[in-house]
Amino acid sequence: MSNKELKFNSKTIHGGQHPDKAYGAVMPPIYQTSTYAQTTPGGHQGFEYSRSGNPTRTALENALASIENGNYGLAFASGLSAMDAVIKLLEPGDEVVSTNDLYGGSYRLFKQVFEKYGINFHFVGMQNIDAIAEKINEKTKLLWLETPTNPMMNVIDIMAASQLAKKHDLLLAVDNTFATPYLQQPLDLGADIVMHSATKYLGGHSDVVVGALVVKDKNLADKLYFIQNASGAVCGPMDSFLTLRGIKTLHVRMQRHCENGEAIAKYLASHAKIEKVYWPGFESHPNHDVAKSQMNGFGGMISFIPKGSSFEDAVKIVEKLQVFTLAESLGGVESLAGHPASMTHASIPKEEREKSGVVDALIRLSVGIEDVDDLIADLEQAIG
Ligand SMILES: *Cc1c(COP(=O)(O)O)cnc(C)c1O
Repeated sequence: MSNKELKFNSKTIHGGQHPDKAYGAVMPPIYQTSTYAQTTPGGHQGFEYSRSGNPTRTALENALASIENGNYGLAFASGLSAMDAVIKLLEPGDEVVSTNDLYGGSYRLFKQVFEKYGINFHFVGMQNIDAIAEKINEKTKLLWLETPTNPMMNVIDIMAASQLAKKHDLLLAVDNTFATPYLQQPLDLGADIVMHSATKYLGGHSDVVVGALVVKDKNLADKLYFIQNASGAVCGPMDSFLTLRGIKTLHVRMQRHCENGEAIAKYLASHAKIEKVYWPGFESHPNHDVAKSQMNGFGGMISFIPKGSSFEDAVKIVEKLQVFTLAESLGGVESLAGHPASMTHASIPKEEREKSGVVDALIRLSVGIEDVDDLIADLEQAIG
């Protein structure tokens, strides 16, 4: 049976993997080397220099391609460096349409790095497909989606976006960090490029910063590989090993993230002191139908607003949490809480962030895989 025919829960463990050639090691060794001996000039065994290729990174890249149903994976030093490589496919004068509640670091990369080089970005509420269409013109080359969005949990219809992209001959890239391929496989829905901050759920243990791209098309893979090698933001062997180890338990972790996420979303929604809960699993969520059709579950990311609460009240709640750790990032085995207005979204002017719903009292949870009773008890004592 080829790896391609395996089901998802087996691909996470076996996809693209083979025992190591030297001694049959089941886990790929950490090839902590920059270079490789050649028998004659150009006489090597497939690896010449570790920016261009490293066997531990190759093992990770093959696993990434397998779990996203792609043909080619590329592992980078961070999620943002993976995005950086995608934007470098473009030329001055080109335009990109993206979401208006994009991950803050992605917004900064687009606006403060690439606009200087003459690439222009439009940000719209992409859950409304017509809003995307309105911004497309002859200069548009790329649609950049993130779904569910951070921290408002909007869900964008990937299939509808891909039909729009095909009609106008655009590339469609999807940041799949929040959903992971366990919940959503964008390449199967018509996307050209899937991007990950593998720092989050794929690594899953808050111990690495890693990025990834996966594509189906050979020509696109070649162009991205050229940029990866030419610019050099590659994932090192140790981080490749740790991320690969994380991927092997992705399906069991995600199952628990989803179960705990659902229990906590429902607990918060029924709490007298909570005003609003953002989680795509609720039937009342404006994009619930899209979420239900393109996702296999609703994940462990939840945002909420306590009733009548101010900036200071929200800060007090997150400070009181004891099992949830107050920290940036998400997707690890441990539960984290964040206050977007003062943390992840502090750099966005108040009026701007409030337009997309990121109000002063909003709290974001990355629900981990601890015992859910402990997590609920912790929220209970903090909300009071
Ligand atoms: C964290 C994150 C990124 C950036 O990835 P890094 O690994 O931190 O560079 C991009 N997109 C989303 C949705 C993220 O959560």
